[in-house]
Amino acid sequence: MKADLRSDTVTKPTVGMLEAMMSAQVGDDVFGEDPTVNALEEKCAKLFGMDAAIYCPSGTMTNQIGINVLSNPYEEVICYKGSHIYKYEGGGVAGNSGLSFRLLEGNRGRVDLEDVLANINPDDVHCPVSSIVALENTVNKGGGSFYTLAEIAEIAEACISRGIKMHLDGARLFNALAETGDKPQDYGQYFDTISICLSKGLGAPVGSVLLGKAEHIRKARRMRKVFGGGMRQAGYLAAAGIYALDHHVERLGEDHRRAREIGEVLEGLPYVNHVLPVDTNILIFELVEGITAETFLNKLDLQGVKAVAFGPREIRFVTHLNFDDKALGFTIDVLRQLSF
Ligand SMILES: *Cc1c(COP(=O)(O)O)cnc(C)c1O
Repeated sequence: MKADLRSDTVTKPTVGMLEAMMSAQVGDDVFGEDPTVNALEEKCAKLFGMDAAIYCPSGTMTNQIGINVLSNPYEEVICYKGSHIYKYEGGGVAGNSGLSFRLLEGNRGRVDLEDVLANINPDDVHCPVSSIVALENTVNKGGGSFYTLAEIAEIAEACISRGIKMHLDGARLFNALAETGDKPQDYGQYFDTISICLSKGLGAPVGSVLLGKAEHIRKARRMRKVFGGGMRQAGYLAAAGIYALDHHVERLGEDHRRAREIGEVLEGLPYVNHVLPVDTNILIFELVEGITAETFLNKLDLQGVKAVAFGPREIRFVTHLNFDDKALGFTIDVLRQLSF
């Protein structure tokens, strides 16, 4: 028995998903002629109450394009200091769009209105123009913490009234919705662009979608080409995304339950110093002094469980579609038997 908790990107397509992919109608999407890609884009736009959508190879690309179409060079993006767009996109925001970052401390990655307002620059030639506030929901570095729609509305209304654009990195937005019960349709009004990933908890092999206003998505089509993301018969992949939206959203709560169960077990183990609250499918914990993440991960791997380091003594587990109750039981047994 083995278990892979490194990321929710490690999932393999299910039989049903593969069948949907194999029977997809396709065409050349750069010509706008792939009916399955078009159907996925329409489905997503409608779901989130936005004008239009564009299918892209990755969530990094949808974030990079979203930020690009909302800004001009020399401007500034305000976001949490551990945001994916800052930490894990290879400096793309600076290179692709010529922007600087204003980084906020956040509370497990969630920023609040007061913090955002305090970091909007005055209209002064010395300062970059504050043009975008980018939120992440759920927050990866925050251990899967989430915003409610009401918290988002407060920030968005203040920013919109000041002419500041709103981008959402919703790589795991469906995980947040599974907990809050907020409706995706209500999200559109608060953001200029939203990026959602089909390849994370939803279990598609590839793909992310950028949603937005018609003018922004028109511009995004140009930028997708510039970034080399125009794909041809991409309907085979988009079909997996449609299948994922139809079949893998409802089940996300199961991933959250399994993550919580592991969290409860970890709380009682001698080599664990601290477990962050488990809000969704991400679990971050700190090892006691004297045990490094590297030592822990090597031991864990030898027992058949994979995970990743999130700091010198921090570990991240992510539950997903291919981590079932059997894998959960196995993982808990392994964790209980580890000794240092
Ligand atoms: C995974 C992820 C992305 C996108 O990653 P890709 O691997 O490029 O699809 C964006 N934001 C967050 C928070 C993520 O976890």
